[in-house]
Amino acid sequence: NLQVLLRRRPKGAPVPEDFEIVETPVPEPQEGEVLVRAQYLSLDPYMRGRMAEAKSYAKPVDLGAVMEGRTAGVVVASRAPGFAPGDTVAGGYGWQRFSCVKPAGLIKVDPQEAPLSANLGVLGMPGLTAWVGLEDIGQPKAGETVVVSAASGAVGQVVGQIAKIRGCKVIGIAGGPKKCQFVTEELGFDACIDHRGDLNAQLDRHCPEGIDVYWENVGGPVQAAVFPRLRDFARMVMCGVIAQYNVVEGADSFGGPPGPNLGAAVRKRLRIQGFIVSDHGWARYPQFRKDMLGWMAEGKMRWREDVVEGLRNAPQAFIGLLKGENFGKLVVKID
Ligand code: NDP
Repeated sequence: NLQVLLRRRPKGAPVPEDFEIVETPVPEPQEGEVLVRAQYLSLDPYMRGRMAEAKSYAKPVDLGAVMEGRTAGVVVASRAPGFAPGDTVAGGYGWQRFSCVKPAGLIKVDPQEAPLSANLGVLGMPGLTAWVGLEDIGQPKAGETVVVSAASGAVGQVVGQIAKIRGCKVIGIAGGPKKCQFVTEELGFDACIDHRGDLNAQLDRHCPEGIDVYWENVGGPVQAAVFPRLRDFARMVMCGVIAQYNVVEGADSFGGPPGPNLGAAVRKRLRIQGFIVSDHGWARYPQFRKDMLGWMAEGKMRWREDVVEGLRNAPQAFIGLLKGENFGKLVVKID
């Protein structure tokens, strides 16, 4: 079994030496377990949190253990009811080729419905995150202005397209002209702002009447520019603050004083709410999947994946994700 382990806890940005690649025997499924051979591994920003010791909403990966992650692949052997060799599934575990998992977290997927890798992106955890966060917190109404940061990424691309389906004006924020062009031309957002340029001037231009829903994926200077432009009764969906994940001081990237002056939240009656998709999201997965497959069939939902070949390249790809080097949902194809 090819595996990527956590060798040491990164200080600041992760480096290749924080990981270790090993070959081990293929595991045997125990009673009640399914052996999955992964074809795709999902790489996601939350994994940076699991590499750190700091307190967070989930337990860190132990030193020397397999890096946490979700995979999609094929059942090789099963000692659990409902799963048989040859079934295609999402929910295999870890940065590794083979994993033994309990059926609870495993979803049988039909390869005719969508490509297998889509179950890690648009039809998987990032897509579900977008759907849940908009339903519960963002609640965009037709005619409102919605701003989405990290707009070309796994979560952002779905957020903006759902907001378009709801009849909103949608402005993306992304890094560089290629990503911005994709966001407007392929995904159909009304505009996309390059956060490396003059954010304030561009926000004034595209959101002259202010912002009703801000989808926060990034934090830092992007948040500081958006916050003063929120309108009365605006909703700020706190999904992630990736610009802060490699910050060393205080070790907890979710800690520290708030960026913008929150006093305006009172006067403007803002709703600022964080959420973690794994809390209640998976219980609603069937409804989400139905909506998403419907939009995909109607041609209302497009998606872009950034596919990296080979598990041995996962550490470098993950390091790049935290610097904006991915273009679309980042997955590793496991040979
Ligand atoms: P993406 O596919 O969007 O990839 C990350 C992107 O973040 C990069 O491509 C880059 O885009 C942007 N980025 C990285 N570093 C910086 C930086 N320093 N400043 C500004 N932008 C940066 O990732 P996901 O869609 O998977 O995740 C997006 C966010 O959603 C993350 O914050 C993640 O933690 C969060 N999340 C939260 C969940 C929850 O339950 N709350 C669940 C899933 C994700 P660009 O080049 O455009 O800047």
